[in-house]
Amino acid sequence: MALSHNLGFPRIGASRELKFSLESFWRGDSSVEQLEHQADSIKLQNWGWQQQAGLDLIPVGDFAYYDHILQLCLTFDVIPNRHRKDASELEQLFNLARGATDCCGKTSAALEMTKWFDTNYHYLVPELAVNQTFNLKSRQLINDVVKAKVLGHDAKPVVVGPLTFLWLSKCRSVDEAASFDKLSLLPSLLAAYQQLLNELSAAGADWVQIDEPILSLDLPEQWVTALAQSYAQLKRDFNGKILLANYFGGVAEKLEAVIASGVDGLHIDAVRAADEVIDIATRWPEDKVLSVGVIDGRNVWRADLSLELQKLTPLHEQRGDRLWIAPSCSLMHVPVDADVEHDLDEELKGWLAFARQKLNEIGALTRALNGCQSFTDRALFTDSDQVQRQKAYSPRILNLSVRQRAFSVLPEHCERKSDFVTRINTQQAHLALPAFPTTTIGSFPQTPDIRKQRAAFRAGKISAQQYDSFLEKEVIDVVKRQDDMGLDVLVHGEPERNDMVEFFGELLDGIAVSRLGWVQSYGSRCVKPPLIYGDVSRPEPMTVRWSEFAQAQTTKPMKGMLTGPVTILNWSFVRSDLPRSDVAQQIALTIRDEVKDLERIGLKVIQIDEPALREGLPLRTKDWDEYLSWAVDAFKLSAAVVKDETQIHTHMCYCEFEDIMQSIADLDADVISIEASRSGMELLQSFDDFEYPNAIGLGVYDIHSPNIPSTGYMVEQLNKALECLPLNRIWVNPDCGLKTRGWPETTAALTNMVEAAKHVRVQH
Ligand code: GLN
Ligand code: ZN
Repeated sequence: MALSHNLGFPRIGASRELKFSLESFWRGDSSVEQLEHQADSIKLQNWGWQQQAGLDLIPVGDFAYYDHILQLCLTFDVIPNRHRKDASELEQLFNLARGATDCCGKTSAALEMTKWFDTNYHYLVPELAVNQTFNLKSRQLINDVVKAKVLGHDAKPVVVGPLTFLWLSKCRSVDEAASFDKLSLLPSLLAAYQQLLNELSAAGADWVQIDEPILSLDLPEQWVTALAQSYAQLKRDFNGKILLANYFGGVAEKLEAVIASGVDGLHIDAVRAADEVIDIATRWPEDKVLSVGVIDGRNVWRADLSLELQKLTPLHEQRGDRLWIAPSCSLMHVPVDADVEHDLDEELKGWLAFARQKLNEIGALTRALNGCQSFTDRALFTDSDQVQRQKAYSPRILNLSVRQRAFSVLPEHCERKSDFVTRINTQQAHLALPAFPTTTIGSFPQTPDIRKQRAAFRAGKISAQQYDSFLEKEVIDVVKRQDDMGLDVLVHGEPERNDMVEFFGELLDGIAVSRLGWVQSYGSRCVKPPLIYGDVSRPEPMTVRWSEFAQAQTTKPMKGMLTGPVTILNWSFVRSDLPRSDVAQQIALTIRDEVKDLERIGLKVIQIDEPALREGLPLRTKDWDEYLSWAVDAFKLSAAVVKDETQIHTHMCYCEFEDIMQSIADLDADVISIEASRSGMELLQSFDDFEYPNAIGLGVYDIHSPNIPSTGYMVEQLNKALECLPLNRIWVNPDCGLKTRGWPETTAALTNMVEAAKHVRVQH
């Protein structure tokens, strides 16, 4: 009998209960007990759902109040000194996550946050001392296993493994970082894991799932060897069984090391590394468990169950009960329940499988393999077959005119008519801007009033006309404020947009927006990625109305504001029946049409934001070139439709440029605005080293803080930049959009910024 299990379930709650509970607790509106109660009910709900779906083993330990890596820091007492205060475990956890200010006003910074592999989830980076010790401290995981056991669940504890934990950590002291060898900490870390494993075993767990997703990365040989040795050591003094889980990529080339480790089972990502399954199944010892992650944990589409069954049958014949069926990775990267998406039409809804639906797929597949299908299982298979047929012919997916147009894209469609030097001269004549022109990144404060009106409009409480006249007033106001502040290139402020990707998702054909399809991004923050299900086209102009209206309010140039194709792609769930490069190209063509329309109505400057360009980089560097090549082409295709005199801007944030400078230059944007202030202009080094040829918009202050930057500070930033950039290629702007800020600080900061630009103009 094959076994079914899951690697992890979304902890945020089907209606984001954890989010609201956390935020209420942080505001001081509810007690610790209320928060703990909410956490418990989410765990119980999740375990219950997994049991109902018929899973044989249920993951425990996938819950975390904020982040599972932070939870692991607490488990092993990896707490930087600044947070080693007399505090409860939960207090300490939130201090680490969000920073803390004590009664004397002394602040202790939060841990740094960064992306979890190539997902949109962010974890907190553990800080290690050179002589770091590890002790089993927080007992949350053990307690949860006991709880689940009491409820009669076959609990399988899940924990991120020692190698991945070390890999993701950083050295506490900047000075020592260079000479710090993280692997030197492995022996003492392993001792702590050993203790944890034994306690989990004592709590009644037969199997422990240990995640080592770093196996999917380019890993130094030393680390691979260390992995084999570590698990061999853990196995020696442990009576339970270890399932080593890898996901987000392949493991075939490191399989020898995994075999040498002696672990009892291996989980592989059979979606991302489908081509390795046969090879691994042949090489992985037959007396050991092979968990095959066939249900896509990174996407929202229903599986082709018959096809999966067909592929799994020979593996089942080979391994019997040593074959386990699972999702490719934890289900925390997909929303909870597609059944509640009542606003989607039935056909599209039928194509979706969120976490709960995926559990049913895993259960049904396993029972089918075992020859004990229930009536509902059969129905699920029939449904799945029907969905596959429907999708193959659905006109909602295949749009012939989109395909034809994509087919006729030529390389020259991606190139501007003239080179940058020619263009910039024409643009300068056309725009007549002063040196160090000032602008903003697009959004202005999304005030409570804006949110209220949008909600009222969506709920049908105010008419489209009322909403429209409200927006008109907003735009008039935003333009006037910018005029008064003396900015050079203005924006309309984006009051009509809820989110830079969802806004376009709602307006483009082939993309749908869910109602409750939230996925945890970090802590209490969630994102709701649009669903790109079919060929993408633009039924009508999307931004022309507000850009045109805004331009009519001023004689200054108005900047059009678009989200780029790569960012729309990377922040959405994307269909899996077409290469991502093709989807990017389809989106690029819609943005291209929008760009053309904006130019037609007289806009001289158009910005195409690509903050997620870097995020899309594949995990293995060998795959970078291919991605960068089509991603850059998609951007260029969207932009290169304009005349020389029209200036194309792009914007990126939270981005390291060093290793992708060639691609950044290849974008050939006339101006790229970057987040330079937070690194004290250090980011510019990459541009300088590369001799980046086009213009750069310097983010001269950090919009993430409410502090008002002084004119002097910004002058200093600009002077630093002038050490490496020619003065006629510098723009002055904040480092990102202002939608999270309030008006008073925005006005004050921008006024100082304009002052700083004037000051530097006189100086040079
Ligand atoms: N134009 C967008 C804004 O200003 C850009 C946001 C972003 O870079 N993430 O809000
Ligand atoms: Zn930004």
